[in-house]
Amino acid sequence: MNSYQLFRRSRIRLALWYTLVMGGILGLSGFGVYRSLIQSNWTAMEREMESIAGTLHDSLEPMLPQSGDLTGILQQIFPDLCRQGQPCNHNPTLIQRHTIGISDRSTYYIRVFNYRGELLAFSPNHPLPLPQTLNPTTWQTFRSSRGTRYHQFTTILHSGKLNSQTAVQSNSSWGYIQIGRTLATFDAEVNRIRWILGLGFPLALTLVAVAGWWLSGLAMQPIYESYRQQQQFTANAAHELRSPLATLLATIEAIVRVPPSNPQQMQTMLQTLERQGRRLSHLIADLLFLSTLEHQSSSQVFEPCCLNDLIDDLTEEYAEFSTLADINLRQEVPAEDIYVLGHESQLYRLVSNLIANAIQYTPKAGDVVVSLRVRDRTAWMTVQDTGIGIDPAEQTRIFERFYRVDSDRSRQTGGTGLGLAMAQAIAYHHHGSITVKSELGQGSCFILELPGVIKPKTRLP
Ligand code: ADP
Repeated sequence: MNSYQLFRRSRIRLALWYTLVMGGILGLSGFGVYRSLIQSNWTAMEREMESIAGTLHDSLEPMLPQSGDLTGILQQIFPDLCRQGQPCNHNPTLIQRHTIGISDRSTYYIRVFNYRGELLAFSPNHPLPLPQTLNPTTWQTFRSSRGTRYHQFTTILHSGKLNSQTAVQSNSSWGYIQIGRTLATFDAEVNRIRWILGLGFPLALTLVAVAGWWLSGLAMQPIYESYRQQQQFTANAAHELRSPLATLLATIEAIVRVPPSNPQQMQTMLQTLERQGRRLSHLIADLLFLSTLEHQSSSQVFEPCCLNDLIDDLTEEYAEFSTLADINLRQEVPAEDIYVLGHESQLYRLVSNLIANAIQYTPKAGDVVVSLRVRDRTAWMTVQDTGIGIDPAEQTRIFERFYRVDSDRSRQTGGTGLGLAMAQAIAYHHHGSITVKSELGQGSCFILELPGVIKPKTRLP
């Protein structure tokens, strides 16, 4: 499987997982909202029914007789109810009177039973067929023959009239009153919520899937970039290692096949072997250094390093080299010592690379100036030359590993193309940065910024 397929598969998998997890969360929250909506509607409906039943109960109880002709009294109290066994006129004004302003009047029906559970009267809009005898369960839900659902509430009625003979309050059960209502509006509301959720969920899931695909693409981008750079680096490293190795092998093969007759020729061949061997060894050492730098944590022992001393040492070290190249190398450092916390040999290597490059890429009679200053507890070191300069298009690439503007020239000067990559890695390792300002034919200025200046103190005379 090639890398493109691998990344595409990972992206698809990531997007799928994202959709799955988000879908699960959306589904659960949707279900939660659905349940709570239904529950709150149901509770509100039951509370309303209880309240209507309570109003009827409270207004009826004081009027209920202890004995006598119940049907006559019922007719007196509930003139609009139909009495059991008698023809019924559809005029539900009683229920209207008690539910007015509370709810839809046609929604409710009422039924009255005696204490034996026999139906005495009922409002004309009650669903058919309903049993003629009482089921005393407080809350009941049932479906009518037409398929409409009903919910009903049953409460007991007591006769509260004072018995004049015994002068004792009698609270015996008189009968039952049943308030019921159609669940048509409730069921319609539930259906509406189901439709909204049923259509909304797949729509939301599609949006989540699209967002997941886009987000996984964003997440994969830096990984893909780093993978691509790693691949490029491996190819470059193999390429760089191949040339000295090929020269080494060719020279050895030549010596083995036709051993050189004179010692001078032998000497030249051995020198070639040594040079290529050293080049290989440098390359491998640089690569190892870069890889250890990547895996090292910055918390490793950093010590105070005096940047003035470092520049002093390096200008001294490169004095002969610059004289040979006819370059005027000088330093501009402040009188007071500037210290930063760091790894001295690494910082040494960094600045050394910059100075070596400046001398290498500056034509004869040019200038190389190393300067140092402090601003806001940050040390700024610049290595400025009057050399060949770097094309703006190349300026971002010169810090890449093995990148060279002019490979032939760079190889001639013995460069591996890793110098600036190492310099940048060291700067990052010290929480600093390195930038370049350059103009073709005018020269370059490499600026090293190192934060955390620790103790500037006056240099002793
Ligand atoms: P090398 O080992 O080839 O010098 P570096 O990583 O040090 O590799 O530099 C990368 C490239 O940047 C060089 O090949 C060179 O073209 C360019 N470069 C670096 N320093 C300078 C400079 N001071 N002036 C002009 N070009 C430079």
